[in-house]
Amino acid sequence: MFGVILCSGCGNPRVIDLASTSSRCPRCGGSADHRRAKVHLRSDDQAELRAAIWSLNSTPGFIPGQESKETISTDPVSKLQRQAERISDPEERLRMVVDVLSEDGEGFTLSDLEDSFPENAGSMLQGMIELGLVYEPRPGRYQRL
Ligand SMILES: [Zn+2]
Repeated sequence: MFGVILCSGCGNPRVIDLASTSSRCPRCGGSADHRRAKVHLRSDDQAELRAAIWSLNSTPGFIPGQESKETISTDPVSKLQRQAERISDPEERLRMVVDVLSEDGEGFTLSDLEDSFPENAGSMLQGMIELGLVYEPRPGRYQRL
């Protein structure tokens, strides 16, 4: 089971693994105690939670701490694709996709990217590397810089 918490350091919503007791925010480095953190959304599907976070981040006037269960799409993969297609600037689009895929701090693989973008995952990954948006902490796994 995974959950969404708001980082107490920077307010960044992120996905945590509820089976573990603590984790570190990839954005500010602050640690969170999962037993004490307020879990806003729960799901077995990390992709669903990432899509929900993307909705929260893109909702004008989103107040941290607000419950937003209705923003979860039943089809998070195509939702990410649709959100990406709405951004016309290619660099900004790649940055958004990197942000969503890196949200849990575990990074992502080419196959994660292919889940959402079966047509052009390879060229997108190439673009992310060339733009310096991601690095490769271990072979085949990419993480937001
Ligand atoms: Zn943080």
